[in-house]
Amino acid sequence: MQRIHLSTWPTPMEPAPRLAVAIGLRPDDLWIKRDDLTGLGAGGNKVRKLEWTVGAALAEGADVLVTTGAPQSNHARLTAAAAARAGLRSVLVFPGPPPTESRGNLLLDTLLGTEIRWADTAELGDCDMATALATIARQTAEDLRVNGHRPAVIPFGGSSGVGAQGYRVAADEIKTQTSDVDHVVCAVGSGGTMAGLVAGLGPERVRGIDTGAISDPHARVAQILTEMDSPADPASLDIDQDQIGRGYPTLTSPAAQALTLAARIEGLILDPTYTGRALAGLIAQVARGAVQPGDRTVFLASGGLPGLFGHPESHTLS
Ligand SMILES: *Cc1c(COP(=O)(O)O)cnc(C)c1O
Repeated sequence: MQRIHLSTWPTPMEPAPRLAVAIGLRPDDLWIKRDDLTGLGAGGNKVRKLEWTVGAALAEGADVLVTTGAPQSNHARLTAAAAARAGLRSVLVFPGPPPTESRGNLLLDTLLGTEIRWADTAELGDCDMATALATIARQTAEDLRVNGHRPAVIPFGGSSGVGAQGYRVAADEIKTQTSDVDHVVCAVGSGGTMAGLVAGLGPERVRGIDTGAISDPHARVAQILTEMDSPADPASLDIDQDQIGRGYPTLTSPAAQALTLAARIEGLILDPTYTGRALAGLIAQVARGAVQPGDRTVFLASGGLPGLFGHPESHTLS
């Protein structure tokens, strides 16, 4: 598999002693893996996966990248940025109708010069959104092919056996930067981040906090592990589903509290959809003793800042 370079590695690993104490850990217990600082296109975890999926697309001779997601998708924004960096066109397929104002990620998508197609997902019946969007992305690629282009479809969230290699690499960085890691805590969206971390660290050390982005994250992470030829046992996957609240697009009150705490106590800005939920999940796990003082814990800051400016409920933060 061919990897291209889209950022500067490794990303920093920073201690967070004040946040550690505030959530009930010892000062040395908590470390932040700064994957929000992956330089391309305002950064975030999707850059690691795109190094592999865009590498594969270039190896196939693609001239246009097609992908999908929610309108505030960080993955879609970073696919547009990776396309720009690689000198390719990009087409993003979002569920319509378009919002009246382009904020957050949508504003950056426009700036990055991508083409946005608003799909009518109602026409596809009652399969889940990720499946519906994947179908529309394939159709879009087919249209492009018929018109003489060479499209490559980048999977939803960049999550496939190929894309998740990026997080196997991240797991190696984590092992080099922090000795004796007990827990790595990450948000789970499309599943590739957790799958790659599990492939590199084993299922016992990775704690996924589900955001509700897909209907069966356990099955999806297991599937990606299979695609990676990982021997990790899917029965041992630890996916916490207590932070979904009223659903993926909403800002839950524990996530809002976690965002506020990280900002005020460490100057660390998290995002409302993923890392806010992930920190809320860690806080709850410490409170119930699943993560204990003395456990060396790495929290994956996976990016998503543009989503804070595009989230419909951000104004409720106070
Ligand atoms: C997509 C995303 C995640 C989740 O990663 P997956 O590999 O899709 O599970 C976490 N944090 C941010 C900021 C993201 O954009």
